[in-house]
Amino acid sequence: MSKAHSQIAGNAIANTLALPCAARKRINITGHQDVLAAIAWSAESGLPLMPLGAGSNVVLPPVLDAAVLNVLDSSTTLLADAQDAVILRVGAGKPWHELVVETVGSGYFGLENLALIPGLVGAAPVQNIGAYGKEFGDFVVAVHGFDLVTGLAQTLSASDCEFAYRDSVFKQKLQDRFLITAVDIELSRKAELNSDYPVLKSRIGSGPVSAQAVLDAVVALRLERLPDPASAPNAGSFFKNPILDAGQLLELQSNEPEVPVYPLPNGLCKVSAAWLIEQAGLRGHSLGRVGVSKQHALVLVTNGSAEQSDVLELARHVHSAVQKRFGVSLEAEPRIYG
Ligand SMILES: Cc1cc2nc3c(=O)[nH]c(=O)nc-3n(C[C@H](O)[C@H](O)[C@H](O)COP(=O)(O)OP(=O)(O)OC[C@H]3O[C@@H](n4cnc5c(N)ncnc54)[C@H](O)[C@@H]3O)c2cc1C
Repeated sequence: MSKAHSQIAGNAIANTLALPCAARKRINITGHQDVLAAIAWSAESGLPLMPLGAGSNVVLPPVLDAAVLNVLDSSTTLLADAQDAVILRVGAGKPWHELVVETVGSGYFGLENLALIPGLVGAAPVQNIGAYGKEFGDFVVAVHGFDLVTGLAQTLSASDCEFAYRDSVFKQKLQDRFLITAVDIELSRKAELNSDYPVLKSRIGSGPVSAQAVLDAVVALRLERLPDPASAPNAGSFFKNPILDAGQLLELQSNEPEVPVYPLPNGLCKVSAAWLIEQAGLRGHSLGRVGVSKQHALVLVTNGSAEQSDVLELARHVHSAVQKRFGVSLEAEPRIYG
C-alpha cells in the first residue's frame, strides 16, 4: 500500500458495488459550522468537497481526492397539516425506504410506488428517483441546503430543481456545489393510488386496493426482479432508458418492431435499455470480476472484489455492443467518479 493510500485507508467509503474506495477526508455535517469548516479545509488543501449518501448510485475509484460530506440529520417534522394533505420536512440523512414505510403507516400517501429504493433522502432529488410510474419530483415543495462555495444557506423551489427523467439541477450545474440538508414534501391524506404501471397492475389485480398493498406489491416485485446488493453488489440500473425522437424511433423500429416503447408527454419516447442489452445477447455475460446480471439485464454486478476499472470496462463493452447492433447510445445512470 502506498504512503498516501495508507494515510487515507481509514476513510473507506461504503458503496453498493462494493468497490474499494478511500477518500482524503470525511466530514460529517450537523450544521452550518461544519459546512464552513469543510469550505475552509477545501481552500487550504486545494481539494474539492463531494456530498455523498449511502453510495448506491456511484462508481467510485480506489482513491477519491476529495472530502466526502455526509449529512447526518435524519429527522422528520410535520410542517403543515391540512384536511387533504401534509407537508413534511425530512433530513437528508434519513434512509429513503424508512421514510416510505413511515409515511404510508401514518396515513400520508404518495411514496408507496417508490418503496425499497436504496439510499438516503438527500440523494433523492439528485437523480429525481423514480419507479413504477412515480418520481420524487411529484412530491417536492422545496429543497434546503448550503452553497458549497459561498457557505450560504439556500432553499430551492420545485421548479428551481429542474427535475427531469433521472435528472435535476443537482446532477448538472449544482453538482458538488449544493449540499442538500433537507427536503420538504407534500403527501396526500387521501390514497389516490397509481397502480397503472403494467407489472404492478398485474400483481395487484383489479378492485379496491390500499396504499399498504401497493407498497407490499412494489417490495415483492423489486425483491424478485432486482439482484440484492448484499449478495450481488450492484448500483441498480446501470444505464438510463434512452430517449429518442420520432425519426430515431422509426429507424430503430424498422429493424426491431418488438422494442418496448414508453411515449413521453413531450412527444419523445423512452425505449427499454434492458431490452436492448438483452437482445444484444449480454444478459448474464461476465467479464472477470464483473458481469451483466442474469436476473436483470440493466444491472451490472460485481463479485465483491472488483475495482472501478472492471466495472467501466464492462460498461464500455455493453455500450459499444448496443451502439453497434441498434445505433443507440446508452448513457450511464450512476455517477462515475475520477
Ligand atoms: C439495487 C438498487 C436499486 C435501485 N433502484 C432504483 C430505482 O428504482 N429508481 C431510482 O431512481 N434509483 C434506483 N437506484 C439508485 C439509487 O438507489 C438512488 O439513486 C439513490 O437516490 C441514491 O442514494 P444514495 O444515498 O446512495 O446516494 P449516493 O449514491 O451516495 O450519491 C448519489 C449522487 O447524489 C449526490 N448526493 C448524495 N447525497 C447528497 C446530498 N446530501 N447533497 C447533494 N448531493 C448529494 C452524490 O454527490 C452523488 O452524485 C437503485 C440502486 C440500487 C443499488
